[in-house]
Amino acid sequence: MYSWLLRNLILPSVSTFTRSAFWEAYRDMLRLEVRSWDELQRLQWERFEVLLAHACQHVPFYRERLQSRGIEPADIRRFEDLLRIPPTTKDEVQANFPDRMTSAQASKGELRYVSTSGTANRLMVIHDFHKREMVRAAALRSLSLSGGYRPGGRMVEIPPDVCSIVCGAEGESLDGVLPHLYRMVRHGELGDEDAVSSLKGRVERNWVFRKKTYQPFGPQGTSLSKEQLRGYVAALRRDRPQVLKALPTYLHEIARYVAREGLEPIPVDVVKPMGASVSPAMRESIAAGFDGAYREDYGCAEFGDMACDCARRDGLHVFSDLFLIEVVVGDRHAEPGELGRILVTDLSNLAMPMIRYAIGDVGRIRLDDHGCGRHSPRLWVEGRVEDALVDRGGEVYSSDRIMDFLYRRPEVAQFQVIETRAGCLDLLVVPRNGADLRASGLAEAFGAFLGGGMDITLYPVKTIRPEASGKFRFVQSRSWGRLMEGERHA
Ligand SMILES: [Zn+2]
Repeated sequence: MYSWLLRNLILPSVSTFTRSAFWEAYRDMLRLEVRSWDELQRLQWERFEVLLAHACQHVPFYRERLQSRGIEPADIRRFEDLLRIPPTTKDEVQANFPDRMTSAQASKGELRYVSTSGTANRLMVIHDFHKREMVRAAALRSLSLSGGYRPGGRMVEIPPDVCSIVCGAEGESLDGVLPHLYRMVRHGELGDEDAVSSLKGRVERNWVFRKKTYQPFGPQGTSLSKEQLRGYVAALRRDRPQVLKALPTYLHEIARYVAREGLEPIPVDVVKPMGASVSPAMRESIAAGFDGAYREDYGCAEFGDMACDCARRDGLHVFSDLFLIEVVVGDRHAEPGELGRILVTDLSNLAMPMIRYAIGDVGRIRLDDHGCGRHSPRLWVEGRVEDALVDRGGEVYSSDRIMDFLYRRPEVAQFQVIETRAGCLDLLVVPRNGADLRASGLAEAFGAFLGGGMDITLYPVKTIRPEASGKFRFVQSRSWGRLMEGERHA
């Protein structure tokens, strides 16, 4: 009933009152989802051409990038032509931010800074009003398509440690929607832009998503006390969220605690990882700890949600009306299903165009239709570029592949692989149930898995600590730079 009222009465009236296009945009997006790939591709390319022409006219960084190569926007006519434009790196964005990266056309009053979590790796981008609406709509789209979430359902998030400081800034101490509205009326602020935008934030958090945020694990790392884990389980049983989103490591630890203690799986409708990728072995243990569907999506603060899975759970369908996503190996596009670096072009941010942005993830993409009714390409994300080991022969071991191997070993509770110099690895392991790591042949087995060319030193440890960003880096590679070999540089 609540959800019905929300969808049919409250959200449409909020849209009218605040001139918000969020609800309409969301419904348009759902209609686009079932279009044929030909139609989607046409729409995607139209939007790309608008973006590229706009960027070349109004954004100094992209104007010079194309001019210095003698390229006109009109020269980029087909998907393959994209390869003529070098990828945009995070360093370039930072060096040119904000003036040379943002559009001279954008109206300053409606711009907002958005930053990623992670202090060391922080990237600032700017969203205008339209982009913010698209981010909101895409968030609901991915919740709805991947897991069947309905506006008004209860949601719990356990974001990475740093998120409570950085990302929380916008949402902190939000009181209710109605008290805020009452205050606006009393102070005659109904036309005030900030007050309206703040009202929208409240509606979104309290009514649309009914979102609750739990404390993250904290700097002590993966090894939580029994009391702490029991606390999470009790809170989830009490709140019974429709959707639980959390850093995969948190879900993994909670699920393994449930299994260890022989507890009933935790009842949620949908459990989703956020902020990092998940290997198949982790996925299995997470799914076993929760009584609900395990689903995945792909997104980040700078771009919003970019792709989400379907009921077949075989890859994440790209939101092709909003993003153009490429996977590249050196200076060519990857073959279907081949592992490469992911590049993102954001089709709905004209205030700060991001064209072929090297987001720092590795993955695979395929175009073939698997018959679910959505025709957009499917993406598999396998971890961070800097977390992939590349051996001398060019074989790439993504962090997902490594995690998958190590988490399937019965003696491993947690681990970290640190490449101290090319070909030399320190393997830190938290043993499971007091296992004798040296007797188990773990180092030898891991060496064989990596093709025999790596020198491995094993260290038993008590916990694995997160980075300053609050996220975990289970693989710290030095050889990842080989992934860029053969690439055209600016
Ligand atoms: Zn599908």
